[in-house]
Amino acid sequence: RELPGDPEQGARIRQVHGALWSAVEPTPVAAPRVIAWSPEMAATLGMDAADIAAPQFAQVFAGNALLDGMQPYAANYGGHQFGHWAGQLGDGRAITLGETINAAGERWELQLKGAGPTPYSRSADGRAVLRSSIREFLCSEAMHHLGVPTTRALCLLATGEEVVRDMFYDGHPRAEPGAIVCRVAPSFIRFGNFELPASRNDIALLRQLADFTIRRDYPELVGEGETLYAGWFAQVCERTAATIAHWMRVGFVHGVMNTDNLSILGLTIDYGPYGWIDDYDPDWTPNTTDAHGRRYRFGWQPKIAHWNLGRLAQALSPLFASIEPLQAGLDGYAAAYTRADRDNVARKLGLATCRDEDVELIRDLHTLMHDGEADMTLLFRALPDIDLATPTLAPLADAFYDDDKRRHVEPAFIQWLSRYVARLRDDPLDATERRARMHAANPKYVLRNYLAQQAIDRAEQGDESGIAELLDVMRRPYDEQPGREAYAGKRPDWARDRAGCSMLSCSS
Ligand code: AMP
Ligand code: MG
Ligand code: MG
Repeated sequence: RELPGDPEQGARIRQVHGALWSAVEPTPVAAPRVIAWSPEMAATLGMDAADIAAPQFAQVFAGNALLDGMQPYAANYGGHQFGHWAGQLGDGRAITLGETINAAGERWELQLKGAGPTPYSRSADGRAVLRSSIREFLCSEAMHHLGVPTTRALCLLATGEEVVRDMFYDGHPRAEPGAIVCRVAPSFIRFGNFELPASRNDIALLRQLADFTIRRDYPELVGEGETLYAGWFAQVCERTAATIAHWMRVGFVHGVMNTDNLSILGLTIDYGPYGWIDDYDPDWTPNTTDAHGRRYRFGWQPKIAHWNLGRLAQALSPLFASIEPLQAGLDGYAAAYTRADRDNVARKLGLATCRDEDVELIRDLHTLMHDGEADMTLLFRALPDIDLATPTLAPLADAFYDDDKRRHVEPAFIQWLSRYVARLRDDPLDATERRARMHAANPKYVLRNYLAQQAIDRAEQGDESGIAELLDVMRRPYDEQPGREAYAGKRPDWARDRAGCSMLSCSS
């Protein structure tokens, strides 16, 4: 069905009470065109290259037409932004088309981001720009291939329309090409979906959403009433811990961990001002909106997730007679995170198991990397190459950004390597097993900010081929890919100031 392009009624901006979603249709765009798509996601949904090339595909995935059975809607949610309750937010530029069951019996929800206004668009336009859409498309799939729980991306489309944004490095509004990403996940429900009805004291609606989520997305949970809710909250805490531990392992910084951007399934969701650690710095955040307090800095992600789970616990508390099960869930988060972190230590250092003193060992390595300005990805990837007889920095030299800083930490670093080598002698893994274990935990290829920016710059100049090239590299992040070393180098000097990308704010 062709859509009429008159969203007036459905999209009327409003406070929506007593409802978890609003029916709203995408607003058609001038000239839909597929820019890129994910072969794995398409295959999962039972689509192939011919399906993507069919003219109807671009019509549907740009929001110009609906397939039979699609019932588009935008979800209603609130959230804590930068630590403060922000009231109703909702899907302001995301519209779910519907859900589909694939051949394997998996249920996937298809959602367009940038498909026009909804009741939740507040003062904004419901659109997305090409640069942010490229970033979301690429990172969703890169994270999946890294083994990090995440929402996925099926395709990226150009709209043929322009979108005006304030680029605040020069303060002038700029017209940019518009784009739409089709995101895919079992569910896009966030912590904020529960917080909103709780904030309005609409306990019946809160309970309805909790029951729906448990029944649909946590079918393995048994029991009823408070016991069931407690088991569910414990699961949410555990999944969140596992995902954050993955972020810390691969050097991913989400950048805007507001409670509306945390998934009830523990998926990484809402790729906005995210970034990747180049030189190891726990205080770094890519989000310029957060440059002052740096609430969402790399090293704080585990504790911020805990804080967010606390807000979720508060929202769910009307479903409980006492807060003890919620406190137990939060304690479970801490325990699960510690477990996952120790697993990271063992895998990143190539040890069969993590002992207490190994936690200290990696902490000291982090300090040396920070002081010596060493690249996180390159350093861990090169660590299996050190000479066990007489360890030197030579095999790791490429990871350093500054020769003076490298020389400064060199003596301490060599001491650290001696400790590490002594520890390896007391570990049962042989060299081959160790290398394989380390390479499976320490990626060679990550979506560094400057790499995404290069693909964006080329696309804005009319050459979109860089997007598929980069995606292709990110499909096998742990493999050596001969001939593609250029994608595994450290951040070039020119990209230093802005961490290799244009300024990133929350709602670009
Ligand atoms: P974010 O910081 O991207 O998680 O967005 C916070 C809120 O702002 C969410 O409710 C978004 O849907 C909304 N939002 C962000 N960008 C836009 C936009 N261009 N149009 C409408 N709503 C938006
Ligand atoms: Mg968001
Ligand atoms: Mg620092």
